[in-house]
Amino acid sequence: MEQRLQALADAAKGFMPPDEGLALYEAGLTAPAGPFLEVGTYCGKSAIYFGAAARERGTVLFTVDHHRGSEENQVGWEHHDAEVTDPDTGRMDTLPFFRRTIEDAGLEDVVVAVVGDSHVVARHWATPLGLLFIDGGHGEAPAKADYEGWVPHLTLGGLLLIHDVFPDPADGGRPPFELYQRALASGAFAENSATGSLRVLERVGHGL
Ligand code: SAH
Ligand code: MG
Repeated sequence: MEQRLQALADAAKGFMPPDEGLALYEAGLTAPAGPFLEVGTYCGKSAIYFGAAARERGTVLFTVDHHRGSEENQVGWEHHDAEVTDPDTGRMDTLPFFRRTIEDAGLEDVVVAVVGDSHVVARHWATPLGLLFIDGGHGEAPAKADYEGWVPHLTLGGLLLIHDVFPDPADGGRPPFELYQRALASGAFAENSATGSLRVLERVGHGL
């Protein structure tokens, strides 16, 4: 991946270690035809890696977020950053940070923000996806809704990427790990690779 983009991704606010970010980029290079879709934009850190791959592949990344933060990003929680709180309203707003990240990276033509609740967008979505990355709300209900809402849009041979998969509960929350287990148990997915807490699965059959 281009050095300049790697450096910008490193500098961006967010939750994506460089080795896992590069694995996102690699997955983008090998995904079958079709746009990529990311659930959980935050400030655009992971979107740089996908955007770099989308540019090389002649496709685009749709990145979905309401930009109001997950439960774990709110005031008083572990992953809160006071800088992303709107001083006028006291609510989180990561959209301006995302716009700046993507502008600086020169990726505005290939990274398309979809601002809204992931589950609402999924219900109205119809375009088949070559790659799906699930990194939105990490609670039980939001993670399950993302899986059930988005996986049906993934083409056969398409790549399903799940972030924050922690086999050991001491390392982090269960829901992403449960999605990963569910995907494998369904028989519709085979594991391609694992990097840190990132899992890359390939859709080999229908079903959820
Ligand atoms: N991929 C990012 C991190 C995402 S953090 C990175 O590389 O840094 C998770 C994001 O999911 C937060 O920005 C939060 O606003 C978003 N999110 C949580 N639940 C959501 C929902 N139901 N709809 C849309 N976005 C949601
Ligand atoms: Mg994550």
